[in-house]
Order: sequence, then structure tokens, then C-alpha cells
Amino acid sequence: MDLLEKLTILSDAAKYDAACTSSGAKRSYQVGKIGNTSSSIAGCCHSFSADGRCITLLKVLMTNSCVYDCKYCVNRRSNETKRAAFTPKELAELTIEFYRRNYIEGLFLSSGVLRNPDYTTEQMIRALRILRHDYAFNGYIHAKAIPGTSPELVTELGLLADRLSVNVELPSEAGLQSLAPDKTKAAILRPMGQIRDSVVQSKAELVKYRHAPSFAPAGQSTQLIVGATADSDRHILHLTESLYQRFRLKRVFYSAYVPVVENTLLPSPDTKPPLLREHRLYQADWLLRFYGFRAEELLTEEQPDFNPLIDPKCSWAIGHLEQFPVEITTADYETLLRVPGIGPVGAKRIVSARRVSHLRFEDLQKLGVVLKRAQFFITCGGRIRSGLRFSASTLVHQLETIQRGELPPDGTMAQLSLFDTAG
Ligand code: SF4
Repeated sequence: MDLLEKLTILSDAAKYDAACTSSGAKRSYQVGKIGNTSSSIAGCCHSFSADGRCITLLKVLMTNSCVYDCKYCVNRRSNETKRAAFTPKELAELTIEFYRRNYIEGLFLSSGVLRNPDYTTEQMIRALRILRHDYAFNGYIHAKAIPGTSPELVTELGLLADRLSVNVELPSEAGLQSLAPDKTKAAILRPMGQIRDSVVQSKAELVKYRHAPSFAPAGQSTQLIVGATADSDRHILHLTESLYQRFRLKRVFYSAYVPVVENTLLPSPDTKPPLLREHRLYQADWLLRFYGFRAEELLTEEQPDFNPLIDPKCSWAIGHLEQFPVEITTADYETLLRVPGIGPVGAKRIVSARRVSHLRFEDLQKLGVVLKRAQFFITCGGRIRSGLRFSASTLVHQLETIQRGELPPDGTMAQLSLFDTAG
């Protein structure tokens, strides 16, 4: 099999892995080395495939042969598909040739399990060693750490890569047992704990010794498949929160389940990938990381899934109307951050702008506030926005309409104003 055919098979087999953005590593050009990484180029080695999925220009598997039999995966051992494997030298040469031609800025390397996790990781390490040492490749590398790999090999891999990821894939142990019987929760979490500790240790050593070896400077991430099992959004969000807290993950990626194989334990092959659900989870993930929300605030046992028609922050605000309206001219930063349509940048700008001038609704858009959402939840100088009409019973519908991109005609669908304090 020639190299092009291998590349076609192994890049196609890698496209279902969403955890491929590269932001977070920063390393300048060094004399005698090829490439650099820049944290200012968000996801410098990613692109988007026709189905909207994030893929890198060189996002490949070492091999799509696998001794495991995860039921949702095209590469599982019981699936009849064409198999291929790069040799470490082939993969290193391919990467460097792509890099020299300016096709890529980095490598995202994953793999099926060939023989066993250790053997597979050794192949990946050999490829990365050739790239880093023989070709002096200094660009971004994201490598997959395969659950079950020996700690010594995870260490070696982390010293060659900028970011490591261990994919959780299925959000519950029950899901793992039924759909990925070769994997266990413990085997997945063990390398995550090791990577967390090694990153912390490496950072501490680099403070003391400038030339200490750097272990996965861009940290670690993981991927969760959404929709292959019956796990609720609430379950997924609580898992996400605990992964961020316990393992200091940089990112949790969500991947809407794409039916590629038929199995009675999986959704039917006609099921559409739940892309909107994936999107809502990304929005909620953002609220956990940058807005100070906790998973338990966003979803409850009674309401375990997000409303697909309204973003999670608006849904939360609708369920907590007693906390609104927020007065723009006096609310503190944390309170402003809870208002739909106000992000960290907008909240900071409001806090500094109001020190020097009297804010009006007209000023808020210039400060980065998405007024069509925020207007329902704020007052400015004690007044609601002029002409705004809504009530608690129409608010959900108005926000749904707005989020569908169809603004209501003059807000005339409601008679009462909940927060009309002007009068
Ligand atoms: S370990 Fe499972 S998910 Fe990974 S390639 Fe093998 S069958 Fe697919």
C-alpha cells in the first residue's frame, strides 16, 4: 500500500475525534529548529470538515487496526474495513513534508490499539522522536494517551507532545461496560491523574531550572460522545465539572454521536447527530469555565436536559427571575456576568465605563453587550429599555424567537412588563 492510500485511510479514520484544537502552547522559533507554536493562533492545526466537525489538516491515526471492540467505532476489530498503519518514519516524514509545504502547523496523532496499549504508544513515541530530534520539529503536537499504557511511556509521550488527551468517550460506567467492554473507568482516569501531576511538576521545575524538560505544556483534554448512550445533559455536565476540578483539564470536547455502525445497543443508523445538543453542552461548558456557574445550577433532576431552543444561560435566567432585573450602573462584576448577553469582556467594560460616565442602553452595545438578550434582564438608571414589552409568560417564546434569528415585531406579543420600575 502506498503512502497516499495510507494517508487517505488514516486521516479519514481520525475524523471522529473532536479534541483537536491546539491553542495553549507558545514556543518561539529556535535557531536550528523547524516551526513554532503560537497561542495567539487559536487552534493553529485545525480545520473544519464538510459536516462541520473540527479536523486538523494533518490529523491522523498511527493505525486504524485495533484489538478493541468499541461498538460505536468504525475501527473496532469486528468491523470489516480496510486497515493501514504508518511506520514511525513514514509518519514523521509525512508530517515534516506537509509542514515544509505550509499545509499544516502541527500534528494531531491518535491511534487504534495495535497489539496492546504499550506497543501502540511505543510506535507513536518513535514517530515523535524522529520528528523532534532528527528533524528538529518545533511545531505543535497533540498526542493521544491510550488508557492502559504504562506510566513510563506516558511520561515519554508527554515530553515529546505539547498536549496529551485521554478520551473518556462514554460518559458513564454502564455505557463503557455495554459499548466499550475492553475499557474501564480506572484505566482511563489513571493516565489523566498522572498527566495532571506531571504537568504541575514540570511547571514547578521550569521555574527553578530554565532548561528543565517540559511535559505537555498545553495540558490535557478529553472527549465525550453525546447521544450514543442515554446519559442526560445533567450527567454529562456534572462529569465535565468533576473532570475540570480533579484533573485540571484544559478542555472537554463534546462529539455528537455519528452513527457509523449498526448495533442494537446504539441509536438507529438513521439518527441524526445531535449537533444542537452538542452546541448547548459547549455553551454550558463555557459557563462553567468562565462565568462562575456550577453544574448543579444549570440542570436539575426534574429538568435533566437543556432546552434545545434556548441557550443554557437564558434558561437559567428564566428559572431565576427573582434575581432580575440587574441594575447596570451598580451591579458588581459577578452579578453582571450572570446576565444573558453579557460576557466577561462586556462586564469588565461596563464596570470601568460607568466610573467615568453615565451609561445608557445605547452605550451597552458598544461595550459588547448583546442587547437583544440582555434587555429582558437589566435596567439602566432604574429604567427598562424604552419600548420593550414582555411578561414572564411570553419571555420564553420571545427568547426562542430571537434565538431562531427571528426578531419579534416591536415586541408587541406581550402586554405587561415584568420589571417596569420607571413608572
Ligand atoms: S480503542 Fe475503541 S474507540 Fe479506539 S480505535 Fe479501538 S475500537 Fe475505536
